[in-house]
Amino acid sequence: MHYYSTRGNSGFATASTVILDGLAPDGGLYVPSETLPSFSPENMQGGSYQSLALEILKPFLNDFDKREIEEAVNTAYSERNFDHPDITPLKKLSGDLYTLELWHGPTCAFKDIALQILPLLMRTTQIKHENDRGIIVLTATSGDTGKSALEGFHDIPGIKIVVYYPEKGVSEIQKLQMTTQRGSNVSVAAVKGNFDHAQSGVKDIFSDRELAEKLAAAGYRLSSANSINWGRLIPQVVYYFAAYLKLIEQKALQPGEKVDFVVPTGNFGNILAGYYARRLGLPVNRLICATNINNVLSDFINSGRYNSNRKLHRTLSPSMDILVSSNLERLLFELTGHDSILIRRWMANLKSKSEYYVGPGEKEKIEKLFWSDCADDDETSQMIAYIYDHYHYLIDTHTAVGMAVLQKYRRCSDRNRPAIILSTASPFKFAGSVARALFGSDHIRGIGELDLLEMLARETGIAVPPALARLTSEPVIHKEVIARENMRHHLLSNLPDF
Ligand SMILES: *Cc1c(COP(=O)(O)O)cnc(C)c1O
Repeated sequence: MHYYSTRGNSGFATASTVILDGLAPDGGLYVPSETLPSFSPENMQGGSYQSLALEILKPFLNDFDKREIEEAVNTAYSERNFDHPDITPLKKLSGDLYTLELWHGPTCAFKDIALQILPLLMRTTQIKHENDRGIIVLTATSGDTGKSALEGFHDIPGIKIVVYYPEKGVSEIQKLQMTTQRGSNVSVAAVKGNFDHAQSGVKDIFSDRELAEKLAAAGYRLSSANSINWGRLIPQVVYYFAAYLKLIEQKALQPGEKVDFVVPTGNFGNILAGYYARRLGLPVNRLICATNINNVLSDFINSGRYNSNRKLHRTLSPSMDILVSSNLERLLFELTGHDSILIRRWMANLKSKSEYYVGPGEKEKIEKLFWSDCADDDETSQMIAYIYDHYHYLIDTHTAVGMAVLQKYRRCSDRNRPAIILSTASPFKFAGSVARALFGSDHIRGIGELDLLEMLARETGIAVPPALARLTSEPVIHKEVIARENMRHHLLSNLPDF
C-alpha cells in the first residue's frame, strides 16, 4: 500500500513517511493510492481485538514488518491501558439498539484507541529510518485530543510531546487531566484566549519556514497528532469490524446483514473510518452523521453545499464544536474518483469564500452512504435523562447527540435495522453536563466538577473510572499560561540546545 496527497502534488509515500509527516507537503491529506484490500467478516470470527487489529492494519502499513505491528498492537491494546478485555465493548440496550463503548482507555475518550498506537508506530519508524532527529509532536487541543496525545506519547524515547490548550474553553476535568500529566518528555501550557487562538498559533509554527530550518539544524522534526494524520484514522477502522463481529457472534445478526452506525461527529475522523470499513467489505447500511447545532456537516450532507461562514456556538458537546472538518477532504477525494483538481478548487473556495458546492454526482453518492441531522443542547440533555430512566445506562453529551439523531432517523426510515451508536466519551468525563441533565440545575448549583463526579457515582451506583477518580489527589505540574504571541518562544525554550 502506497499513499499520495488529495491535492495531487506530493508524489507517492510509504506508510512510515505518512505517519511521520502528518500533513502532506502540498497541504493535502494522505490517502491510499492503490485498490483497498477486502475483508470478509464471515472469515474473521472468533479472534481477539488484538488479532483483528493486526489483520486490518497490516496491509496498510506496507513498510512495517509483521512483528513490529504485532508488538505495537499488543502494547497499545493491553490490559494496562484499557480497563475492559474487549477493548471496545458492545453494550446491548434493546434488540436493535447497541452502544460501542470507545472510552475504556486511559483518558476516557475514543481518541485513545488511535493515540495509544500512533506513538508506537512513530517510534518504530524513527528507529527504522535510523532517524536520529528528535520528533516534536505539536498539538493544539479543545480538550480531549491533548490528554489522549499526552497519555500516548509520554516517556516514548526520541519524541517530545507539546500540548497547547485554551485557557478558557476546556472543562475543569479536562484541564486537570492535562496539568497533572507526568513524563520526562512532556510540555503543557495554557494559551490565553479560546481554541482558535491556540490552534492558529500552532498552525503558524508549522508554516514558519525559518523556524523549521532552525529546528532541523538542531536535529528536530515537527509532527502532528491531530486526526489529519492517517496513522490516527486506520486504527479506528478496527472497532467497526469488532462491533459487527460481536453481533454475529451473539447471533443478533446473520452474516452479511447490514447495520447502521451512528457517529457523533466533529472533525469527520471517526465517521471516515466507518466509510473505509465499508469500503473494506463491512456490511454497513448507513453511516449516520450526528452533529450538534454547529451543523455545517449535516447541512452539507443534506444540500451538497459546505458553508463554514457562521458563528461557532459553544455547546454541551464541546469536542464537536467545529466549523471546518478537515477529514471531509479525504471523503471528497474518494467520491470524485481521486480528482485532485476538483479538490484543489473546492479547498481554494473554502479558504477564500468559506464555502464550496459539490456536483450532483457526488451529492447522490453522499446521500446513499450517509444520513445526517443535528441535536441541540436541550435535546442532548433530555436524551441523557431518557436513556438513564429507560435503561439505567449513563451516556455522555456527545453520545446523547448520536442517540437524539438516531431517533430522528428512525422517524423517517421505513425499516428498523440494528443500530450501533459509537459512544465517544465516558459520561464521567462530562460529569457537570450529565449531572445537570439528570438532577436539574438547582440541585447541582455551586458544586464543583470534581464533586459532581462523586455525586454522579453515588446517585447512580455506577463507579467513576479510576483515571478520573485519581485526579483529586494528583499534583498539578504544568501551570504555565502564555500569550499566543509567545508560543514560538515557549516551544524553543522547552527544547534542549536552544
Ligand atoms: C473528538 C471527539 C468527537 C468527534 O470526533 P471526530 O473524529 O473529530 O469527528 C466526538 N466525541 C468526542 C467525545 C470526542 O472527543
